[in-house]
Amino acid sequence: MTGKKRRALLCMLAVPLLALAPRREQSAAVPAMEAEEPVKYVALTFDDGPWAETTEQLLDGLAERGAKATFFLIGEQIAEHEDTVRRMAAEGHQVGSHTFTHRDLSRGDPAERLREIEQTDTLLRDLLGEGSYWLRPPWGFLAAETAAAVGVPMVYWSLDTEDWRRPDADAVARDIIDHARDGDIILLHDPYPTSVEAALRAVDALSVQGYRFVTLEELFRQKGIEPEPGKLYIRPGEVRKIG
Ligand SMILES: [Zn+2]
Repeated sequence: MTGKKRRALLCMLAVPLLALAPRREQSAAVPAMEAEEPVKYVALTFDDGPWAETTEQLLDGLAERGAKATFFLIGEQIAEHEDTVRRMAAEGHQVGSHTFTHRDLSRGDPAERLREIEQTDTLLRDLLGEGSYWLRPPWGFLAAETAAAVGVPMVYWSLDTEDWRRPDADAVARDIIDHARDGDIILLHDPYPTSVEAALRAVDALSVQGYRFVTLEELFRQKGIEPEPGKLYIRPGEVRKIG
């Protein structure tokens, strides 16, 4: 067969194949996920760090287990713990912002709110390089006008362990183990030794059940959701109403 004929034949074949392509993808996607993809993905997220001891212990424990997490850092604490922040990034964790002073982004001077976000973003860029440093608004509070000005995805949570008000590793671990579902974003705080212990216990227990602990970026990728700037995500594909 000459090259010309082969190309002509390929063109003829390509037309019906292209016409079929969207339907083939749709019909194949659902059964393939169920039959071939039993892995479940969750994202552990830690707010209010970095801290010297507890954050380092957590990083040790995650490294031993091959688990990844996401850290939403308070900007004013970064300067004292730059090595810990570099370690987070070097070990494959995602780093994000929790404003500069843990500011309520739903009230007060709008310009000041944005300044706190920019300040921490600049710190992270200086330390870790260019990138998209996602934002978790402290307490999940967020005014619509602030959200509209934020150029990165923002993250709420789908499983709140309330670890800050109950320093009880058993109870917090049990909460995660009993309630985690595929696609969950789990809220924890690494200043508390009990939260670190609870998180690592949950990783051990849920890994056996087929869960993988991934960064938020990886969780969204696995769920096929493109995260959009200015939206506040409860989990991939589920957005919290702002304001
Ligand atoms: Zn916080």
